Amino acid sequence: MRAGRKTQPILNSVTLKEKLINDLIDTNNSGIMAEKSNETIQKEKRSEELTSFLQNKSFIWGPEPEIYGGIAGFYTYAPLGKLLKNNVENAIRKTFIKNNFWEVECPCVMQEEVWIASGHAGGFTDPVIKCSKCKSTFRVDKLIEEVLGDIQLGGKTNEELLLILADNQIKCPSCKGNFVPEILKHNLMMKTTIGLDKVAYNRPETATTTYLPFLRYLTFFRDKLPFGVFQIGKAFRNEISPRQSVLRGREFTQAEGQLFIYKDQKNNFEPYKEVKDNKLPLWSYQMQDGNNNPKLISLSEALEASTLKNQAYAWALNLGFELFKSMGIPAEKIRFRQHNLDERAFYAEDAWDVEIELNSFGWTEVCGIHDRTTYDLTQHAKHSGKNLVATREDGTKEVPHVIEIAFGTDRPTFALLDIFYEKKEVGEGKSVLHLPPRVAPVQVSIFPLVKKEPVDGIALKILDDLKGTFVCRLDRTGSIGKRYVREDEAGTPYCVTVDFEGVENKEESHMTVTLRNRDTEEQKRVHIIKLKHILNELISDKIRFEDIN
Ligand SMILES: [Zn+2]
Repeated sequence: MRAGRKTQPILNSVTLKEKLINDLIDTNNSGIMAEKSNETIQKEKRSEELTSFLQNKSFIWGPEPEIYGGIAGFYTYAPLGKLLKNNVENAIRKTFIKNNFWEVECPCVMQEEVWIASGHAGGFTDPVIKCSKCKSTFRVDKLIEEVLGDIQLGGKTNEELLLILADNQIKCPSCKGNFVPEILKHNLMMKTTIGLDKVAYNRPETATTTYLPFLRYLTFFRDKLPFGVFQIGKAFRNEISPRQSVLRGREFTQAEGQLFIYKDQKNNFEPYKEVKDNKLPLWSYQMQDGNNNPKLISLSEALEASTLKNQAYAWALNLGFELFKSMGIPAEKIRFRQHNLDERAFYAEDAWDVEIELNSFGWTEVCGIHDRTTYDLTQHAKHSGKNLVATREDGTKEVPHVIEIAFGTDRPTFALLDIFYEKKEVGEGKSVLHLPPRVAPVQVSIFPLVKKEPVDGIALKILDDLKGTFVCRLDRTGSIGKRYVREDEAGTPYCVTVDFEGVENKEESHMTVTLRNRDTEEQKRVHIIKLKHILNELISDKIRFEDIN
């Protein structure tokens, strides 16, 4: 969602009606309020189950502040959730840096002029509808999605949204009353004050704040374009009744990369050559209209077919794919959805979203990749009075284009929890988080079988040795079975058990422990002196558990 996104094409009512029938409506229900589909009910059930699991197992707490009743959209990452989120952010950093992006950190609060220039002060709004009976307000697109399930509403006009409400007889969820047939605009920015009375806003995105030091970048990069910068930091949006856990927080963490590039470099972009044969699951707007599924297409093919417009943009899409895979999201859960022409910001040359398939919410937008052309630098030049141009080698001045990869770290963190959460229906009904070992909050847990020497002392020594390399913890409480259950729920991929059999009356080089694999529950006896090396190979995906001998 970006400033000034909504354009409002007028459709005549026949096309509109057809569109509705084709796109989304189950025409069989008439006369009664639309019932939630079975699939929606299943997803809701799972989502509730997951939310309480994440609360109880110390991943995500809230809405916060809980002891004061809590306000929707604010969450605490509990110890395990915070470790996971850190791993997600570190994967993002590594991938950006590997691709020559440099990290900056800009202020969260900026004065009103900035947001007038960026377009957020005027155009950054959500469509809201009010109940005529109880006066509750709801975000209309979210309400429709909740009732009708997995549908695409991006780019729908207010008129179309009202028609969908009416045709499906969607009523107020609080009191079943009718809505006032008018869509209001709700500005999403959180207002604050600097000093006594200077109006300011908590940034609704990091991107705008990243553009502003443009002249400083020119010095740092010695006037050589293209160059990339990225920022990971908090942003704030005053959403109406946010739900869906950290997927829709009022305060959240963004990670946005910006590539500054001259227009003629977009189709003469060296790094593209290295990735041009990579295949991405692309779902162009033509494919969406024809009800076709996404297809794995190489970047070069997509450029030839004009599905993608230039090399630099194609490269940015590939980087988006790399980013999400580096966080541990399975490739088969990712697709790229192109915005329809009426869904794009007026200045955007092209726009694709990265979507992840969640068990709780279906395909969910997690990232937008936009060719923003010269829009931002031109706007800020106009409003600041500064000349935001770069000087080319031949001395000519030019406003560079910006290609942006805009996402956050809350959604992928939640996605990992959602995708890898398994509730076992058999046995005690325990749960397992099958997180990829390299992003798991705790990577190794160490259990002394008994609180006696030499077992306990050796367990402590192992902990000491592994602590610098992995996130580890020691657990002495309860039966081994109970300790395994706790670690399975925390997503810990490997557990080490120290027992008498392995360490009593043995020289150090002969001592052994058992190593257990979370996903298969298989155990192997390994030498303590080899343990760190084996764990390193396992966690960095160099060997599989079966390969240990
Ligand atoms: Zn109501």
